[in-house]
Amino acid sequence: MMRLAWHTGFASTARDHFGGLGSVIMLHRVRPDCISPLGVTRSLSITPAFLEQIILSLKGEGTEFISMDEVVERVKGGKRPDRRFVAVTLDDGYNDNLHHAYPVFQKHSVPFTVYVAPGFIEGASVLWWEIVENLVTKADYIRIPGGPEWRCGTLFQKRSAFHALMRYFSYTLTEIEQMPVLRALCEAEGIVCGVAQDRDVMSWGELRQMGSDPLCTIGGHTVHHYNLKKLTAGMVEQEMRLSADMIEEKLGRRPQHFAYPYGSAKAAGKREAEIAATEGFLSAVTTRHGTIHAEHRNNLHALPRISINGRFQKLVYAQTMMSGVTTPIANAGRRVIQA
Ligand SMILES: [Zn+2]
Repeated sequence: MMRLAWHTGFASTARDHFGGLGSVIMLHRVRPDCISPLGVTRSLSITPAFLEQIILSLKGEGTEFISMDEVVERVKGGKRPDRRFVAVTLDDGYNDNLHHAYPVFQKHSVPFTVYVAPGFIEGASVLWWEIVENLVTKADYIRIPGGPEWRCGTLFQKRSAFHALMRYFSYTLTEIEQMPVLRALCEAEGIVCGVAQDRDVMSWGELRQMGSDPLCTIGGHTVHHYNLKKLTAGMVEQEMRLSADMIEEKLGRRPQHFAYPYGSAKAAGKREAEIAATEGFLSAVTTRHGTIHAEHRNNLHALPRISINGRFQKLVYAQTMMSGVTTPIANAGRRVIQA
């Protein structure tokens, strides 16, 4: 459908109506090889070559690459500029951002924002979805003491156990229960439940190095990467404030922009948007699918994004999504996505 929309010219024509002011694109990992042993987290990883292809193609169309500070200014101004914008964002602070994405951004002078969770940097939290994948890859059987159990003998069983465990960790357990349960499962299977030897996320020193480049903005992403909708309002405030305090203390600059962990309607809503505004962030992004419109001026704390999916690394998909035509398809007919 996306190919058809682009090749018939529908997407490029519709861009005037749906494309709005521009898009905020969302990336996670950028690395030449994909390290998802079961392929289940492949959507989170794109290659530096694909990143460069997207940048060159957008620049060729006259798209302007801007920072999140400028996104806020453009949305507040509300004026339809001659050129559409794209702001590049990367979630979680993977260290491949420094080694593989940063050189591409430097080469093409593209501003970018990395949303970091200090809990990942200091080991209080882990990239648990990757650890669950490692666990299921290694185990033949997974049993939660006093809870459900899954057979993981075959590739098919491993993949379905992964998805079941993702749901179990995301929705059955509380955010506070996640880590102890994951640690126990890792211990039983003899795998490391923490920072990998080659470090998966950037250290404070690496962030300081990259963050000193004017192209780079460091944003907040909570301390522990909790699903905020599952926390009390007081805890949400604390997660936001403390993450900003820690980043300010380590990097010398208070983050002005924020990304909700997981970012779907199940993880961030009106309450979270209000708290992010009260905490002083200039903008906050979700993972809900959509382009940016002048109407977002009253909704700067629930900005939708366009996720570039590593499973489908095709330029035409990215172009079609950024035209805005897929926004109403993904959102029950709505063109402007808000909290
Ligand atoms: Zn995240």
